Amino acid sequence: MEIYKGTATFPGIAIGRILIYQRNEYQIRQYLTSDVKKELEDFHTARQQVQKLLRQLYEQNSSIQESRARVFLEQAKLLDPGSFQRAVEGIISSEKVNAAYAVMTTRDELVNTFRNLEEPAIRERIDHIREISNRLIEVLGGISPKIDLGEEPVILVSESLAPTEMMEMGKEKLLAVVTHQGSIVSHTSIMAKTMGIPSMVDVEISQDWDGEEAILDGYTGTLYLHPDSELRKEYAIRQKADMKEQEELLKLKDQNDCTADGRKVGLYANTGSLDDLNSVLFYGAAGIGLLRSEFQYLGRENYPRENELFLAYKKIGETMGDRPVVIRTADLGADKQADYLDIPDEVNPIMGNRGIRLCLDRRRMFKAQLRAIYRASAYGNLSMMYPMITSEEEIDEIEQIIREVKEGLTEKNIPFKNIRTGIMIETPAAVMISRELAKRVDFLSIGTNDLTQYTLAMDRQNPLLRNKYNDHHPAILRMVQMVVEAGHRENCRVCICGELAADTALTETFLRMGVDALSVVPACILPVRKAIRETDLSK
Ligand code: PEP
Ligand code: MG
Repeated sequence: MEIYKGTATFPGIAIGRILIYQRNEYQIRQYLTSDVKKELEDFHTARQQVQKLLRQLYEQNSSIQESRARVFLEQAKLLDPGSFQRAVEGIISSEKVNAAYAVMTTRDELVNTFRNLEEPAIRERIDHIREISNRLIEVLGGISPKIDLGEEPVILVSESLAPTEMMEMGKEKLLAVVTHQGSIVSHTSIMAKTMGIPSMVDVEISQDWDGEEAILDGYTGTLYLHPDSELRKEYAIRQKADMKEQEELLKLKDQNDCTADGRKVGLYANTGSLDDLNSVLFYGAAGIGLLRSEFQYLGRENYPRENELFLAYKKIGETMGDRPVVIRTADLGADKQADYLDIPDEVNPIMGNRGIRLCLDRRRMFKAQLRAIYRASAYGNLSMMYPMITSEEEIDEIEQIIREVKEGLTEKNIPFKNIRTGIMIETPAAVMISRELAKRVDFLSIGTNDLTQYTLAMDRQNPLLRNKYNDHHPAILRMVQMVVEAGHRENCRVCICGELAADTALTETFLRMGVDALSVVPACILPVRKAIRETDLSK
């Protein structure tokens, strides 16, 4: 038996055979052609075929995860007439080579040129180019581009994996996913979490594992290769217990969120799109504690119009009924980019023009969102909060814009409510002035993801810092305590909406600190509810 350790990204136990998945990086034969026209036509046909396939994939997946399925549309868009197409056609015409070879050359040149750039938006674009190129090469080589994992579900092992590839594979074929690359917050891990598939990253993989029996323990981040019969028996029992535990957890769906000694805690859901609403209701969340409203701004060609925003917020408000919905105003910039936003290159985008700074720079965009939120407030229990706040002056500016928005709506007799407002505490500056900030709003919500990276001065997405990135650092815990005390002195409720809120090892600590509410991804509602109900603060 061999044991491999990695980083667990979604818990669960899988027992089955490994399938080593390799993206089809074919060795393409280069040949000179006397018929350039035919190669250009072949390329044109392949582009159309791949675009059609990508649009079909979007249709198939959009009902499950619209925002993530939109990646297929982004990739299809890259195949429209444009720089990629011109580059490939240029190579075919000038070098008189076959189309597949020209696509491969274009792909490799782009990948090599940008390989060392850490900028997430560029990396994502390069991943897209790689994927569409591979699909084109497959079509041009006459090979079916469909991913075929065989009949039986497998433990999929791969050097890296794109979220789109995972969607194409489908949940029912995947027992678990193991990759070498990726991190807890990479898009593929979030995809696995959303699909509920046990997974781990950071495993040194070997091609020889293909077809071997294995056990994946997604709690400890351990992969057992050729498990002996004892271990197999043990994990079969644990897997059964695991399923039983899931069934038990489901019994908590309709239970309240009170500690054993009767203190009521708010347990809310974090959502990033309209598609998540069903699971928010299914798991019985008390409401939405963080609606990452960026979803409507990304993966598109232009700013969303006010009415489009309004209709989405209205739908969310109506679907959630009396349950509160906290809309976080657009947190764009840094790793959330779109071409039309035209954000100039920054040396250090994580420290750059992002979140509320960008909104205050782009008044029209911000005002349109605020108007949409206020208009929708008539249809649900909405409130809003602002990301990346560092000063009271920012709140002054926001309040001025809100006054203008309300005046505009009143003039036109458009109904709205005076909704509750909140501030995200996710910079050390906001922690230090949390008492002053608390005087200005109704609630504070601690974003531990950014707060940790800014406090430790460690990029939350940098895989090299994985072992040093300690989100249980005493500095973070002390900051949470400070914010709770400051908030409560000003009668402000304090919530945690960063990933740490779902860490059940800290539930009791947070509740003892006096945290009023926790907001977590829908799949974590029940485990956190269980932890809350098992906590006895009187002891
Ligand atoms: C956070 O920073 O903790 C947070 C909730 O915001 P996001 O993860 O969207 O940056
Ligand atoms: Mg944040």
